[in-house]
Amino acid sequence: MVEKNKLSDNFKHYVNALMTGNSYFSGELIYKYSLYILGFIHVILSVVMLICQSYKLMIANIAVCIVIYTVAPKLVKKGQLLSVLLGGIFEVIAMVTATILTIGWDAGFQCYLFAAITGSFYFPFIIKGSKRNILSLVLSILMIVVFFLNYILSSMLNPFEPLSDVLMHVLFVVNSILALALMVGFSFLFVWELLSKQRILELQNEQLDELAHKDPLTHLYNRRSMNIKMDERMLELKKTGRRFTLVLGDIDDFKHVNDTFGHDVGDLVLTTVAEIISRNVGSQDVVCRWGGEEILIMMNESLESGLLTVEKIRKAVEDNVCESENGDVRVTMTFGATESIPGFTIEHLIQQSDDKLYYGKRNGKNQIVSKFPEGYDPKNA
Ligand code: GH3
Ligand code: MG
Ligand code: MG
Repeated sequence: MVEKNKLSDNFKHYVNALMTGNSYFSGELIYKYSLYILGFIHVILSVVMLICQSYKLMIANIAVCIVIYTVAPKLVKKGQLLSVLLGGIFEVIAMVTATILTIGWDAGFQCYLFAAITGSFYFPFIIKGSKRNILSLVLSILMIVVFFLNYILSSMLNPFEPLSDVLMHVLFVVNSILALALMVGFSFLFVWELLSKQRILELQNEQLDELAHKDPLTHLYNRRSMNIKMDERMLELKKTGRRFTLVLGDIDDFKHVNDTFGHDVGDLVLTTVAEIISRNVGSQDVVCRWGGEEILIMMNESLESGLLTVEKIRKAVEDNVCESENGDVRVTMTFGATESIPGFTIEHLIQQSDDKLYYGKRNGKNQIVSKFPEGYDPKNA
């Protein structure tokens, strides 16, 4: 019962993965179900041979069924996939040839050779080594040769056990349908393998991208990618004249948060602040962890409209309460904002924002500084 439930769970999971291409399966499950399906086709063929009173072919099909359901799964479990697949291909060649010679060409058993060609191109997914595609090619050529040899032999020899025309037509339809179904099945599996492998690569790429460009704690851009984005934006400024605004923000008295509530709570506060900022900026704006608890925002707008957004952020940070085991934590932030000026370097703009931030820190914190008061010179500060 447990085994049966596990089987149906596996099956549901497998069908879901086949449909979405989202989840990747151990090959063992694929081979197990493929074996069940191939075994079932031989069960159908055994019954067909019984109906046709071709008892030798019926016995041969039953023997193949027994091997598929008993020996093959054990070999798969031992990892001897190549033997199973080669065995399968040669079984198809032998059975097709025996059946064509016994019953005749018109029953359509040669269709299984085409299905086996599609199946043989599945080899590269399950065996290792640099020559894995060659094996598929060699086996395909072998099957084409077998196809024509059978055609020549059957046109030269009379079948050993000829059947009525009606039975031959029925057999042709049954064989065509089964062989076409196998071809569709193999092709579907084939595409699914590619899709699921592509999906894995995409996920790995996303992870690598995240590692290379983002800060692991806050998931904001890191300093290196921010520098690249600022250089790109600077080029755009030169080309189009479209200005941007650089805002440098720093959490007020953050040392006190760490000292009072612990470093972990400090991390939580920092992450929450990063989320608040990301939520409030525009989709074109770039937010970066510039260092420690300093956050640099490149806004794709003028200083005037950028300041409205920064005020929204300042207020949201001020209103936010971080709940922790050691009590509720509230923090504020101070910002320095500078609009891009053609001819000024990025370093200069950042320095200006930093000077304004410093001014804000020295004059009450929890505020946005976008210009210095009359007569103030940051160099003398
Ligand atoms: P000010 O208002 O002048 O900014 O005061 P401050 O205490 O925030 O001073 P400062 O900005 O110089 O201090 C930064 C502190 O932030 C020091 C450092 O221990 C802490 N910090 C930097 N990075 C992290 C981090 O990733 N996690 C935690 N928990 N603390 C950090
Ligand atoms: Mg600080
Ligand atoms: Mg700081």
